[in-house]
Amino acid sequence: MAKMLVAGNWKCNKLFNEAQLFVDALKTALQNAGDTSQKDQGCDVMIAPPSPYLAAWAQQINGAFKVGAQHCSHVEPGAHTGDFTADMLASCGVDMVILGHSERRADHAETDQHVATQLRHALDAGLRPILCCGESLECRESGAHHDWVQGQITAATADLSAADMSRVDIAYEPIWAIGTGVTASTMQAQEMHAFIRSIIGELHGDELASATRILYGGSCKPSNAAELFACPDVDGGLIGGAALDPVSFAAIVVAAQSTACPT
Ligand code: PEP
Repeated sequence: MAKMLVAGNWKCNKLFNEAQLFVDALKTALQNAGDTSQKDQGCDVMIAPPSPYLAAWAQQINGAFKVGAQHCSHVEPGAHTGDFTADMLASCGVDMVILGHSERRADHAETDQHVATQLRHALDAGLRPILCCGESLECRESGAHHDWVQGQITAATADLSAADMSRVDIAYEPIWAIGTGVTASTMQAQEMHAFIRSIIGELHGDELASATRILYGGSCKPSNAAELFACPDVDGGLIGGAALDPVSFAAIVVAAQSTACPT
């Protein structure tokens, strides 16, 4: 079983002082929620704040959690106003980067090709990427969701070596569940996660597929995290709205820890 990961994606939320205050608030909330030690219980915790905060935040966190970025550019260093590269993130103390989020694909016209390039750059920079995939409601209702997700994963990872792939986490995030309050049922999540694992098996071999961490994202919250994480192919969560509140996020972390190490 892959080590569980609970990753928070703050998107475009919180001012810097709020981000600073969050660190101690989360530590307290984790203790109150029954966290005994994330290291001992086999659960990784990552938070991705807005990019301008990353360098200072990485220093403040000082290894207590993993520091994530929400994006890196596909361009090489040079004349690209407003862009930043994976190397730049790594030089600021960033550990992980979320790539291919549906909001980036929609708001910034990021294509599978852009995502494949970003993934290559992230791996070369020593970052651990979380590759997002997931279908729209229209796509699911038309029955094309498996083909859609398969296309996204194949386009991004087909050229990766086994060593590269062993450093990639996948997040299945059905677009119809993101920020809507509508969560995929455990049956829908498990079915798609098992399918994603089978795609990775076809592309990169069964051993790698079973070791790959596949997160669920889309209105995951304290009230549904435990049942989602109990699905055999769900290895944690990518959390949006509920990651903004330390108490909610801590409850989700503890749900993952309980799944990883039932007592
Ligand atoms: C996300 O956008 O990655 C996400 C999962 O958001 P939410 O939890 O708010 O649905």
